[in-house]
Order: sequence, then structure tokens, then C-alpha cells
Amino acid sequence: MAVKGLDIFKLSPKKNCKECGSPTCMAFCMKVAQGALPITKCPYMSEEAIALLSEATAPPMKTIEVGGQKLGGETVMFRHEKTFVSPTRYAVTVPSDLDAAALDAKFAEITKVDYQRISEREFVEYVFVEDKGNGADAVTAVVKKAREAGRGVIVETGDPEVAKAVVAVTGDVIIDGATADNYEAMNAAVKDYAVLGIKAPTPEAFFDLAEKLEKAGNKKLVFDVTADTAKQTFANAVVVRRAALVENVRTMGYPSIVNVAKLAPDCMHKQEAYAALFTVKYGSVVVMSQMSYAEALPVYGLRQNIFTDPQRPMKVTPGIYPLNGATPDDPCCVTVDFALTYFLVSGEIERSKVPVNLLISDASGMSVLTAWAAGKFSSSSIKKFFDEYDIDSKINNRTLIIPGKVAVMKGEIQEKLPEWNVCVGTREAVELVKYLKDGEYKAAAEAAEKAKAAAGVSSGPAIVEGPIDFDKLVYPEIKHVDMGVHYQQRDPESKKFVTIGERIHCISPSIRAAMENFDPDPILKRAAQQIKAGATYLDVNIGPAEKNGPELMTWAVRTIQENFDNVPLALDTANKKAIEAGIRVYNRTNGKPIINSADAGSRISNIDLAAANDAIVIALCSADGIAKDNDERMHHCHTMLERGLSLGMEATDLWFDPLFLVVKGMQDKQMDVLNAIKMFSDEGLKSTGGLSNNSNGAPKEVRPIMDSTLVAMAMMQGLTSAIINPNDRRTMETIHTCDIFKNYELYSDSYLDF
Ligand code: SF4
Repeated sequence: MAVKGLDIFKLSPKKNCKECGSPTCMAFCMKVAQGALPITKCPYMSEEAIALLSEATAPPMKTIEVGGQKLGGETVMFRHEKTFVSPTRYAVTVPSDLDAAALDAKFAEITKVDYQRISEREFVEYVFVEDKGNGADAVTAVVKKAREAGRGVIVETGDPEVAKAVVAVTGDVIIDGATADNYEAMNAAVKDYAVLGIKAPTPEAFFDLAEKLEKAGNKKLVFDVTADTAKQTFANAVVVRRAALVENVRTMGYPSIVNVAKLAPDCMHKQEAYAALFTVKYGSVVVMSQMSYAEALPVYGLRQNIFTDPQRPMKVTPGIYPLNGATPDDPCCVTVDFALTYFLVSGEIERSKVPVNLLISDASGMSVLTAWAAGKFSSSSIKKFFDEYDIDSKINNRTLIIPGKVAVMKGEIQEKLPEWNVCVGTREAVELVKYLKDGEYKAAAEAAEKAKAAAGVSSGPAIVEGPIDFDKLVYPEIKHVDMGVHYQQRDPESKKFVTIGERIHCISPSIRAAMENFDPDPILKRAAQQIKAGATYLDVNIGPAEKNGPELMTWAVRTIQENFDNVPLALDTANKKAIEAGIRVYNRTNGKPIINSADAGSRISNIDLAAANDAIVIALCSADGIAKDNDERMHHCHTMLERGLSLGMEATDLWFDPLFLVVKGMQDKQMDVLNAIKMFSDEGLKSTGGLSNNSNGAPKEVRPIMDSTLVAMAMMQGLTSAIINPNDRRTMETIHTCDIFKNYELYSDSYLDF
């Protein structure tokens, strides 16, 4: 296992003197674990600790690079612990005794499988040349042909003379054939030139042979774990990997080859099943006797599932995808780069058989509504995408269909792309078939064209970017109503748990409509419900609000605060000007405004915004994706902490969010999140997060049980705040009860009468 930041921390001097350039010893140790700093940068680290850590930080399994592919380098046994890093590669056998015609046919078959799936090229990466004893020339001829075909090469031979001839042609090759009987001669032929594949009957025999070769100075090895039976092959593959990663036996830390063509020479069905088995456990290269599309589609799909990081969104590459033979004269559909969205939308378009150019814009792998709410799929991002990919000159047709779920963006997109006729497509992908087949988009495009003509839209962007005069924002008069609900004065110094009500969110259709129309009633109603339920803060999510963010946020802040005794608010939008505008009218009587949110990646400048405006900021411990583990979480935490402190912020004004994860799908990561909260707490930092994420997708009646249990566990770890639904009585009662036990709230028999 790779050494963890916390393990290094245990050996650190814990002086927090900052001489290493990091604000705390913990921050320094996290960076060392990430490989960002050498351990020797701390002048107070003992020699013993340095010696121990140097040994511990050596990788448990070597990465061998050959034929343009990386093999090995794994750090964990199971994918759910941490991502597997080097995908299984596939090889196809080519015997050296084929005649010229058969050889050509074999290579034609090998190179036929070559396709893209979710932005990955799927093809046969290696040719596995079998030395049939017909001479070095025959073997090298196949090797040359494989190189010409752009494939990596593995040569199976136990003949040192053949090995020498091959490495004379190319050193970028695995010579698979060292055994206990011939290893010295094979090592002499291959060492310093190529990678040596070793064969042994049992894991113990692999250890003995690898140890001898290491002593002879060769650490460029792979283990061909193929045995006489599938059972022994499986045992070899698992025991070798376990010895390297669990038992920390470095001599066993090499990638493996599994030759399933040998295990089932006469049955492709069995080979396919074995290929699947050894893709999962633990073939770095799986060798088959053929790879047609019938074999390729299942195993490459499996590989992609196993080797894709489950915590990173599956994305497709942004760009133009012409479907059903679309040409530049056909209409365009635009959507996000979330892989599932792509597959659903492209599948339905293909079913319609209508030629369409599907435009995939970069939305950080989020779904349509999530990306929209986070400001990643907006009129600006679409405009940027059009500019970067030069869509205007690549596509002649000017019909642009946008997802029905973000119909609200139509006007803004139309203004930013005045040459185009923007029409609102369907809310669900499945409805696209009818929409396209019936030509509904044509009528919509014509209507858009006429509307433009009537409005006098011609060319050039209608929205003028530039400085905003905050004093001249125009928004409707603030409505004042007495709803009989009052926010109780709050002591900002109180240690009591801070609840941030999540229900004023633009993803809710009623709130979205209210924000579009500046209709205060639905917003006031939800504010009243949450305040009555005891929320400390209210989150106000206005979405990207690119067109009128400053006006909308100013109006929303004033509307809520003026009606509810200056209830403190979290301002939640990707639009920075809107946040600035909201803060200008914000009343701080009951606490500073919260900016929701910054991260350690593209949104880090929101920390600057908080510093400049004396605000609290929710600091998501992520960059461009969910952190893999707590080392990465703490690395992000310290990056943001350093940024905030360097700008003069108090550490307590950064509320660190570990990112609560959904139990359905990420059950094994829940304790990581709880442990991260403990780490924040141990460093004296405050924490928060969208706690109810954990129960997303769970039955309605189960969610309060999950949320209330998790909040109790998280508060035990030191969580100081959470973004929740305060109208979930069970969760609120749990929070108050935890505050009682933590002695943050004085007990009385009526403490639950809030
Ligand atoms: S790790 Fe950094 S902060 Fe800690 S004692 Fe060493 S130099 Fe000082």
C-alpha cells in the first residue's frame, strides 16, 4: 500500500514552525504523500523517519512501459479501495510459422478491431509472437510486421539466440521465456535492451527466479503466470499481486501476462470467459488467439468499467458528433459531456434516423441540470464552446436545439449566438425520436427566426460584458409581508451546529419559475417554512443567472432578509458579480454572508472573493472531480486554507466540505468522508457540506433515517454545519440532541420545542 499522509504525519516533528513552507506539519505531510514535496524539506525530520519513509514511499509494484503502454504500477487489490491505474492490455497470438498469405490475413484480422468508446481507442495493443522453432529470421519477420502495424510486441521464446535477434530489431519488446533452467542466458541476451518475461509453475518459484534476476541487476521483468490449468493460473495471478501489494514483497511487484489462448486453445467461448476473469484479476496483458468484434466488445467494455475511476465523472470528448450521416447542412443538438447523457441522447437521435450534428460541450462530466445549476452549462459556456470549436464555420445549418430542461437559457443563448435559431428540444432524451421525426424542430427554428426578425436581432452579442454599476441595478420593488414567522437573533460566536436550509434552489421548478419572474411568494413561503423549522442560515441558489445575476441576487437577498429579520444567507451561484451584488445589500446582523462555493480547482478564486468581502466561504475539498481519498481531500483543504490565510482570512471563515457521497453506489466511501471531518476538526477547522446527498435515490421514508443517523455520526467527528432540509423534523431533532450532548445547548425538558 502507498504510504498515507497521516502515516507520515505520525513521524513528523509536529512543531508547526512553517519552515518547510507549509502552514502546518499536517499540510506538509499531505504534500509529501502526494509526491509534491520531498520529506527532506523539513529540517527537523529525524534520520530514522527519513530512512523509514524512503523505504515506505517506494512503489509496491513497478510500472513497466513497453509498446507505448504502461503495465503495472497498481497500489491496491480492489477497485473500490482506489482506482486501478494501468488497464489490462490485449494481445493476439501470431505463430512464427505462418506462410505469407496466412500472416497477412492474421494481421488484417488483428487490425480490423479498432474503435472509439467513451473517448478511448479500443484495439489490440500487442502482437504475441510464438516462436515455433523455425529460426530467428521467421520470428523477426513477424516482429517487424507487428511494428509496422503500430502494435506492441511480446515474443514468446526460450531461445537466447532468437531473443538476441529480436532485440537487435527492437528493444521496445517483451521477451517472454526466462525459466529456472535458462534464465542466465536469457538475461544476458535481453538485459539492458528489453523487458524479460519469466515463467514459473508457482508463486514461490516466481519469487525465487525474480530474486535471482534482481540480484543479477534486472528489474525490468514481467511474470507470465500462465500455468497448465485455469485454476493454477488464477492462483498465480492473485497470489503474486497479493504478495506485492498486501505483503509488501517488492520482488513480486511486477506486471503479469496471462495467456488464455493456451488455457482454452480450441474454444473461443472459454477464452472469452477467461479473458474477462483475468481482466478483473489481475492480468496486465491477456493473450487471446483472436480478437474479432465478438470478443472485443464485451472485454473492452468490461475493461473500461473496471479501470475507470468511479469517483471521476465519465466524460466524452467535447466536439461535433455527426450522427446518421449528418453533414454541415444538418441541424445541431447541443448537450453536456456526461457520458450517460451522451449515450442516451446519441442513441435516441440514431433511432430517429434524422441526420443531426450532436454538439458536446465541456460541462465537467455533469448532467444537464447539475451542470446548469453549477454554471458549467450556460449561455457563456456554450458560446465559448462555439468559439473554441469554430462551429460557425464548420456547420452551415443554423438550427440549434437545446435540452428542454434548460429552456430558461434559450433567450441568453439566442443573444450570444444571434446568427443561430435556437429552439427548445425535449425534456427527456426518449422524446427526441418523435421530435426529430415529426420535424417539430423545423417549426421551432422558423419561429425563432421570425422572433429574431421581429425583435430586430441581427448580429453581434447583445449582452455587453463589463463593469457593473451596482447602485443602478434595476429590479422589482421589494415586497414586505408579515407571514408571522420571525428569525431569532443568533449569536455568531455560538458553538451550536449551523444548519443551512437547502430549499431555495433553482433546480426546484417552482423556485426556478419564481426567479425567472421575480415572483417573491414561492421564495418567501420556503424561507418561512425553513426558518420556522429552525434553520440557522438559508442557502439561496439562483443558478448561473448569467443575464441578470446581480439584479436577481440583490432582489432575493433583500426580499428574504427584509421579511425575516435579517436571516443570514449563503449566496449560491457561479456568477461572481451576482455574489458581489448580493453582499453589497446583505445585512450582517445575524452573521457574515456565506459564499457557496469555492474549490481547489477552477473555482478557487471564490476564496479571493470571500477575502475581499469579509465573507465565509464553503471550500469544497475537490478540484475537477471528487477526491480519491483523504490524502487528496486534505491536500485540497490545505491548498485552499493557504490561499485564504495568505489573503488575510481567518481560518474559521473557510468551512471545509468533504463532499458527502451518495450511499447507493459509494457505500464504501462513507467512512472516508467521516474521517475527513475528523481531520478538519483535529486541525481546528470548520466543516460543512450537502449532507442529504448521502440519501439521494433512497425511498422517501428512509431518507430522514439516513440523514439523521449520518448527521449524528458526522457531528461526533466534529462536523460544525450542514446544508440540509430543515423541514426534515427527524434530522433537526437529532442535531439539537447532539448539541445537548456536546454541551453546546443547555438542556431543558422542552429543548425540542423549536
Ligand atoms: S514539517 Fe514543516 S512545519 Fe512541521 S516541523 Fe517540519 S518544517 Fe516545521
